[in-house]
Amino acid sequence: MKYLDEFSNPELAHNLLERIRATTTRRWAIMEVCGGQTHSIIRHGIDQLLPDQIEMIHGPGCPVCVTPLEIIDKALEIAARPNVIFCSFGDMLRVPGSSEDLFRVKSKGGDVRVVYSPLDALTIARENPDRQVVFFGIGFETTAPANAMTVYQAQRLGIENFSLLVSHVLVPPAIAAIMESPDCRVQGFLAAGHVCSVMGTAEYPPLAEKYRVPMVVTGFEPLDILEGIRRAVMQLEQGRHEVENAYPRAVPAQGNPAAKAMLEDVFEVTDRGWRGIGVIPRSGWRLSERYRDYDAEHRFSVTDVHTDESSICRSGEVLQGLIKPTDCAAFGTKCTPRNPLGATMVSSEGACAAYYLYRRLDQPAEVAHA
Ligand code: SF4
Repeated sequence: MKYLDEFSNPELAHNLLERIRATTTRRWAIMEVCGGQTHSIIRHGIDQLLPDQIEMIHGPGCPVCVTPLEIIDKALEIAARPNVIFCSFGDMLRVPGSSEDLFRVKSKGGDVRVVYSPLDALTIARENPDRQVVFFGIGFETTAPANAMTVYQAQRLGIENFSLLVSHVLVPPAIAAIMESPDCRVQGFLAAGHVCSVMGTAEYPPLAEKYRVPMVVTGFEPLDILEGIRRAVMQLEQGRHEVENAYPRAVPAQGNPAAKAMLEDVFEVTDRGWRGIGVIPRSGWRLSERYRDYDAEHRFSVTDVHTDESSICRSGEVLQGLIKPTDCAAFGTKCTPRNPLGATMVSSEGACAAYYLYRRLDQPAEVAHA
């Protein structure tokens, strides 16, 4: 299939690996920011094919994984109300809150619906004018434009029984938080291509300069990832720290101006909590003042929910690249995709789920057969 198979060509992958091997003279630690890239790296065994000196550190770029427990609990509380139709993408339904998940709320009679676009939720609102319809709007800069468009349309069409439970997060402040951590080992980044296709690349040169790290905008297919790694290693070996775009077929330098204008109209920057990491200043979006009536947290008065993370789950360390999923004692035993203790095991983009799917059989027998 065009644009997919051609970026999985084994011969070209072999050539790129040879070039990476020929360039590498010492140990380097490179973080792929995006969960989709993590999934691709583990699925295709890219980390195992690289020279031993290159370590891939898995970053916090899985949107389901970083959505804080507090927001999940707010979603559960709203979804359980009798007059509410709660709409979400399917991957959020199994994410555990403090005591249950959205599937459990649905099984107890809550009207929880899986939709494939936030605009589907708006259609449901138009069809059910006597019910409150809420869409669970989570994710990075990638998903935010469609959610912003939905709120914009709701206001434009005068649909008042629609609201958005917002937990949007932003990549650049997370990169800064990772680099400021005293435990940080990251020396270079593969920046998330789909985020840059919306936002462009202008936010990254100041970060590359401040932290003296190369940043390569990278796609998701095996050749994309190998080329991103090759360019990052080349910069590291040459002592450079620049922003390069290795995904020009999807990422123009200026991003998507129409999407950015919509985001600027509907959202404003706010501090956000990241699951397992904590609050990162100015790292997310909330609805701006002129759209505040569409904010589900205010509409349903759930602004004061506070919860504690599981003491067993080490997903915060996984998300910061401090440990690998297999370093967690619960991996593959107490915690599996069927019984996840943390969000990194629920989402298909989560590092724990990726290791469970593709690396479980590499583990000792008692884990592999759990
Ligand atoms: S394996 Fe499970 S318990 Fe351990 S860090 Fe991952 S999600 Fe948390």
